[in-house]
Amino acid sequence: MILKVYDDTYKTLRLISKDVDIPLTAKDEKLALSLLKHIKASQNPETREKHKIREGVGLAAPQVGKNKRIIAIHYPTSDNFVTHVLANPKIIKESVRRAFLSSGEGCLSVPRPIEGHVYRHYKITVKAYDVLKKEYVTINATGYEAIVLQHEIDHLNGILFYDRINPLLTFNAYPDAVEI
Ligand SMILES: [Zn+2]
Repeated sequence: MILKVYDDTYKTLRLISKDVDIPLTAKDEKLALSLLKHIKASQNPETREKHKIREGVGLAAPQVGKNKRIIAIHYPTSDNFVTHVLANPKIIKESVRRAFLSSGEGCLSVPRPIEGHVYRHYKITVKAYDVLKKEYVTINATGYEAIVLQHEIDHLNGILFYDRINPLLTFNAYPDAVEI
């Protein structure tokens, strides 16, 4: 399923999204699963070419015009996939230590490259309702997974990755941060 992904000039990208009811309504469940389907489709080169879409590893409901606290993440690892489809995710613990992607971050709602390190917490604990498991879960995430979760949860609060780039300290805000 291919969704219309709005860019950062669209109003839903800058609003605080609302919690959804648990268990999810049929409509919210459909929205959650469609986010995952779009991300999976974006990782197929032929689908990408056919629909003229960009490759992504995560998508949040505000990016498709819905201010609901729902996110989907999907990306391959060396031997498997990391997949999360979460409702009302909440970060309940975060490490003092930071991490950043050496290549910087990208976003399906930001159709241009933006340089600069986005320093995020290296380890986080997230509580959420897992839409695929249909139960509440606690996720302990480190490194890349933690960064992607923080990026998507930021969308639920109207925050875009470039808001977190300090123009005065673009490349060395945290000298002991973990480079990923
Ligand atoms: Zn994004």
